[in-house]
Amino acid sequence: MNVLVINAGSSSLKYQLINMVDQQVLCKGQVERIGIEGSFLKQKGGAEEADIHAEIKNHNDAIQMVLEALTDAKHGVVKSLEEIDAVGHRVLHGGEKFADPVLVDEQVIHDLEAIADLGPLHMPANISGIKACQQAMPVPQVAVFDTGFHQTMPPKAYLYGLPYEAYEKHKVRRYGFHGTSHLFVSQRAAELRGTEKGRMITCHLGNGSSLCAILDGKCMDTSMGLTPLEGVVMGTRSGDMDPAIVKFIMEKEHKTIEEMDHYLNKESGVYGLSGVSSDFRDLAKAAAEGHRRAILALDVFIYRIQKYIGAYAAALGGVDTLVFTAGIGENDHELRQNVCRDMDFFGIAIDEEKNASLPRGSEADISAPGARVHTMVIPTDEEYMIARDTYEIVHEASQ
Ligand code: ADP
Repeated sequence: MNVLVINAGSSSLKYQLINMVDQQVLCKGQVERIGIEGSFLKQKGGAEEADIHAEIKNHNDAIQMVLEALTDAKHGVVKSLEEIDAVGHRVLHGGEKFADPVLVDEQVIHDLEAIADLGPLHMPANISGIKACQQAMPVPQVAVFDTGFHQTMPPKAYLYGLPYEAYEKHKVRRYGFHGTSHLFVSQRAAELRGTEKGRMITCHLGNGSSLCAILDGKCMDTSMGLTPLEGVVMGTRSGDMDPAIVKFIMEKEHKTIEEMDHYLNKESGVYGLSGVSSDFRDLAKAAAEGHRRAILALDVFIYRIQKYIGAYAAALGGVDTLVFTAGIGENDHELRQNVCRDMDFFGIAIDEEKNASLPRGSEADISAPGARVHTMVIPTDEEYMIARDTYEIVHEASQ
């Protein structure tokens, strides 16, 4: 059974075709600059790589191009669309309605449209991606929610200190994101440790970063909120800050609401702090050359992660397993070492040699001998997780 996984963003669309029998990724691709001049599709996996530049007006066009590329004689990996058995869609927001992956029908589309304002940039793209696939292929479509795993949080973790009506009327609460990734790495860590029981903190550190406090396999708290802006300082997002700063900067810099939104989401974080880059490889290089603001930005990033680990250790009544994942968490051994530095009072201590020599893309327990906490590096695989959920739902529905 071949599952097509679609991850539609506001102006991009990433996809993978995965054979669920042998779990082989048949092909990977992305469409960039949808609705913007200079759009293109790139795809790897077929006899030849595809690099097609064409006008791609909307997500419907993008899906059409993806399906053509997948079945193309030169670039493609299947002869016809009949070889695609199901489509799994990454959907940003499930609101309070969707905790688990769901087979899409008319009612689901209707429910997604009703909560679309919770993710104004991504939800319209997610919904049109689903509709375009429905039109092009008569196969089951499954929606997998980035917020889903976090729906087990108790009210004390998801409520903000706002008038309760904000929650009742507008559903303003913590939802959390990267749920598929936190679920994937926490399940894998539990498998490797041989038990789902215990107190775990997962750190998804990539362009966007979030931490998650997990008790016996269930999410108890997470650092992102109503939107992905809350939590640790990120590549270009501010993370936690005094909400009064919004009014203060808007007045001082004469910004509109949209400009302020851009400021907090795209101009802040380690990029804004350093003035160098949001990419941690550039930051590490600049810091090594003595760039003062790059050093500061990395210090802030590390300190915020440490504070969340402390908070979640308190929330969970201790910690047994600490997991690093995503672009930075998987690849940046210095960052892992710095986060774990001086944390031995928590029982966190890593084997520095093992940590530094870990080959790219490998999973490992990097704890120092005798450390009470198991510190692990586990590469995330959100696409595989979406494909697996899709496969399971479609399989169940056909029984
Ligand atoms: P996303 O999926 O959120 O776009 P990723 O999980 O791919 O992001 O992470 C991207 C981040 O990972 C970038 O900031 C990049 O700097 C960082 N990264 C990737 N490889 C390395 C590396 N070898 N060392 C340090 N940082 C890395």
